[in-house]
Amino acid sequence: MSRRASIILIAGCWACGPRSPGIGGLRTRAELTEFRETSSYADVVAFTNIVAAADPTIHYTTFGYTTEGRALPLIVVGEVADATPEAVRASGKTVVYLQGDIHAGEVCGKEALQMLLREYATGAHREWSSSMVLLIAPIYNADGNERVALTNRPRQHGPIGGMGQRPNAQGYDLNRDHMKLDSPEARSVARLFTRYDPHVALDLHTTDGTRHAYHLTYSPPLHPNTPAEIDDLLRKRLLPEVTEAVRDAHGWEFYYYGNAFAPPGSDERGWYTFDHRPRFNNNYLGLRNRFGILSEAYAYATFEERVLATRAFVEEVLDWVHAHGDEVRAIVARADSTSLVGDSLALRAVPRRSGAPTDILMGEVDEERHPLTGAVMLRRRDVRHAESMYEYGTFEGTDRERVPSGYLVPSGLEEVVIRLEAHGVRLEPAPAGELDAEAFRLDSVLTAERPFQEHAEQTLFGRWEPRRVTPAPDARWVPIEQPLGRLVFALLEPRSDDGFADWGFLAAALEPGADYPILRVP
Ligand SMILES: [Zn+2]
Repeated sequence: MSRRASIILIAGCWACGPRSPGIGGLRTRAELTEFRETSSYADVVAFTNIVAAADPTIHYTTFGYTTEGRALPLIVVGEVADATPEAVRASGKTVVYLQGDIHAGEVCGKEALQMLLREYATGAHREWSSSMVLLIAPIYNADGNERVALTNRPRQHGPIGGMGQRPNAQGYDLNRDHMKLDSPEARSVARLFTRYDPHVALDLHTTDGTRHAYHLTYSPPLHPNTPAEIDDLLRKRLLPEVTEAVRDAHGWEFYYYGNAFAPPGSDERGWYTFDHRPRFNNNYLGLRNRFGILSEAYAYATFEERVLATRAFVEEVLDWVHAHGDEVRAIVARADSTSLVGDSLALRAVPRRSGAPTDILMGEVDEERHPLTGAVMLRRRDVRHAESMYEYGTFEGTDRERVPSGYLVPSGLEEVVIRLEAHGVRLEPAPAGELDAEAFRLDSVLTAERPFQEHAEQTLFGRWEPRRVTPAPDARWVPIEQPLGRLVFALLEPRSDDGFADWGFLAAALEPGADYPILRVP
């Protein structure tokens, strides 16, 4: 949509029954600068507070802090008494979490969410509040957002006034921190997921990968242990229907996230998604039994077009969830109450090839120069070339284990206990007296040579053996029969590729020939 068209659309909203007409003229920093600049933390706080003050169904609060002590804005939209988790959960409505700026050079979501909030306040989509409560976190990596440089994300098409950096102030990639929880930001959002308990969550990014012809790409949770009903609803219904609605309204093509390449040793190009591990936001939410959705605007579309594409995606997803809220909530409730004990779940996974090739729409770009730095920026051309290739968009579990009834965490593993509690996992005192358990007897430990996110990742080899044990009085019991059972399995199994052992939190306790310190009870 051109800028002219979007202004007419906004004017149309004023005419059709504005809720708070006074703020119809409010503009984001991106809009005020004709998309040369993106909002600072102060801009976002000011903008969202003005909107909240004008509308009794919009509440401004915060949900934690960044490393440098910035309070993380959270705008709660809906018919609730106040912005507390208790009020949101008591509403009985579908709760949807919308997050921008986890990678603070990828600012399209931060801008789109502010525009959407204003448009809601001026009369658009008022029906949403009958079925949903929205939790809007426009500026999750707020410290990264403030580190603006004209050289960040160099080939992306603006904003030419610069954008923030990818990592947080500690240098961590927040979209690799959902399992290990090293950052205050990740602990803040895990706490939000536990306390507000959103059913659906959108994480808004911008991709600078393959030069494809999609205005936006998306992904459902990719871990093979994701509840099948969540995967089915997203892949068979929500995402295809949203894609069609966007095509009808805007003429844009949206598709599953991927990059086109031939892997080493092959000359066959495929369409490869990213990674199944729950260190990524959408995959993590899948293991929490929630509808986690990744959104990736296309870096070589203009900044304005990226913001509008992101806004269109969020709007269509919200329309869909509004129309199917009972079903969404029922699937979540079923996943939370279904016992996993005795099931076979995956510890690791590999990409799975699609049954047949698909036409992937490839694009082209022109080179332009950044007007101030002279660096090359790429701009999408409006062309599409269909290229037939196999998709590698799902994962197959490679190592499987039978899910136990729970795990025994001995005393002295404080890093493990603190992190389990930060995820919202329920811990209990260990049962008294002798019991039959299993210990993972280590044959060897492989430690990665290069650290990743300041951790030397470890792969454990060994086998489970029966043990008759008497837990110490201060040991902890972590039952699988709780809503976060899938997450507990991924965090505590010794061979899990994203668990506490993988991240090295148990390194001091691991010796070949000895037992992995966390026991399980079959
Ligand atoms: Zn990103």
